[in-house]
Amino acid sequence: MAIPAPGETTRWRCAQCGNLTRFDVVRVSRTREFWHQELSGAPMVEESQVLEGELESVACRWCAGGGSVELVDRPVGEPADD
Ligand SMILES: [Zn+2]
Repeated sequence: MAIPAPGETTRWRCAQCGNLTRFDVVRVSRTREFWHQELSGAPMVEESQVLEGELESVACRWCAGGGSVELVDRPVGEPADD
């Protein structure tokens, strides 16, 4: 089972290299979509809503350390990283 998703007070951290911001995530999800088709039949997804989702694996983007990503508490008072 994969690591839980970060919550309001937690974040992911790579225990191997310390990366806090870049991860490769494999997720299985069930979605509802609004498909807008051109008259030719070519579809475009204009809206997508995730009904259920489950993380399958999370790996560090930088060192690809499998199984090294851990869930840690967010520091108090640090500005959000975008
Ligand atoms: Zn790493």
